[in-house]
Amino acid sequence: SKDDLVKVRDCVYEIPTDTRKDMRVPARVYLDDESIQNISDGTLEQVANVAALEGIQKRSIGLPDIHFGYGFPIGGVAAFGENGGVISPGGVGFDINCGVRLLKTNLTKDDIKPYMKDLVDELFKKVPSGLGSNGIKHLKEKEIDDVLKNGARWAVENGYGWEEDLEFMEENGCMDTADPDKVSTKAKRRGIPQLGSLGSGNHFLEIQTIGEIYDEDVAKQYGVQKDQVVVLIHTGSRGCGYQICADSLREMDKTAKRLKMDIPDRQLACAPIDSDEAQNYLKAMAAGANYAWTNRQMIQHWVRESFENVIGEDAESLGMNLLYDVAHNIIKKEKHKIGKNNKTVYVHRKGATRAFGPGREEIPEEYRSVGQPVIIPGTMGTASYLLSGTETAMNETFGSTAHGAGRILSRSGAKREFTPDEVSQKLASEGILLKANSKPVIAEEAPKAYKNIDDVIDVLDKTGLSNPVAQMKPLGVIKG
Ligand code: 5GP
Ligand code: MN
Ligand code: MN
Repeated sequence: SKDDLVKVRDCVYEIPTDTRKDMRVPARVYLDDESIQNISDGTLEQVANVAALEGIQKRSIGLPDIHFGYGFPIGGVAAFGENGGVISPGGVGFDINCGVRLLKTNLTKDDIKPYMKDLVDELFKKVPSGLGSNGIKHLKEKEIDDVLKNGARWAVENGYGWEEDLEFMEENGCMDTADPDKVSTKAKRRGIPQLGSLGSGNHFLEIQTIGEIYDEDVAKQYGVQKDQVVVLIHTGSRGCGYQICADSLREMDKTAKRLKMDIPDRQLACAPIDSDEAQNYLKAMAAGANYAWTNRQMIQHWVRESFENVIGEDAESLGMNLLYDVAHNIIKKEKHKIGKNNKTVYVHRKGATRAFGPGREEIPEEYRSVGQPVIIPGTMGTASYLLSGTETAMNETFGSTAHGAGRILSRSGAKREFTPDEVSQKLASEGILLKANSKPVIAEEAPKAYKNIDDVIDVLDKTGLSNPVAQMKPLGVIKG
């Protein structure tokens, strides 16, 4: 509970290892004083539960957007050693490789003003969205395996986007560990019709303009400047990833029982890394991740087409290059310095963004000297942020940072608190155009249902987990 917290430094608190018999490492949260007061004991307990899993390295981590999740908290990171560690699907979550990408343009907010209404209408028409939405492309049953195996490359080869886009995604938009044979027929059947769709709720497509710049040098390196128009895309692996997660949770629940693993919460079902169950999950998860990169790539293609149709210039001359694509629900095999040694670990990031500091070879060459771009959405009515990865994150959080503002009200709680009309009116009064697929979603996604994003970014800045580069402000939003 909160009484167990020890302050490490400003905005950094720990539950020490000896607080509970089963903890193997400390549980650490990055939160400001006010958020520490507001955090539920249940969420803190989840960070501590993760600290009890076999083979966990260094510490269990909660980021400033942390909130209660399925077993693992959302906004959480845990790394397990390649020898003796475990793999847990709940440490990724149901939307495998949910993530965001930021697309640049060379337009300014004044340039785009006359087109905004038409653009929002066109995007809403061109990009399928909504609960259980289906894509436009009708995959043949055997094509889904190509998507699961090849990820964003499949999309580019099939006419969705540019070869160079692939450079600006984690893993170049494809994990080659993916094995479609480890994905159930049910997951594939759910994935086939939904490929190339936004989904609903928290998933969105947003036209934004760059507000304040905090780091001119890094902004220049990433190719952004004040008043520039950018587009933020947030979606994941739809029903396909959901089904992969559900399938493997069921498997691992059995494994954990069979091996009599000591797990503090059944939702933390996991399996030793060298077990078949863990290996099968990793291969299926990678396939789900590839599906998500393909999905974002296809949607990006329709965003470019929408701009072309409405503005009457081609996407190349509009400068619609991909700045970067980040995954925020995924397991990655990475090397990290732990103590004096470099160790290979399986980093579980659930509602957490990789934030590699300068020099890491995983970062595209153009950005390597300044660290990877980190994209953190706020809400449809507030700012979102572009940051860069830091050495501090490498040393403290396995190169990880927050992924959003983080919910403070449940969907039903938000609906009790706000009406769709008052939320829409507030956005309209601020000049933000909104088109949503369902009215209830507007209330569920009310900006006030989320923590204040500025506070989250402040903690990242103060603790050094990320370096703020630029602020983005919403102009128009498509909500699923
Ligand atoms: P999640 O992946 O956890 O569902 O959401 C990530 C983050 O996206 C949320 O924590 C929230 O801060 C942010 N978010 C949700 N809806 C919107 C939106 O419409 N626009 C923007 N810019 N951010 C949003
Ligand atoms: Mn998602
Ligand atoms: Mn997400």
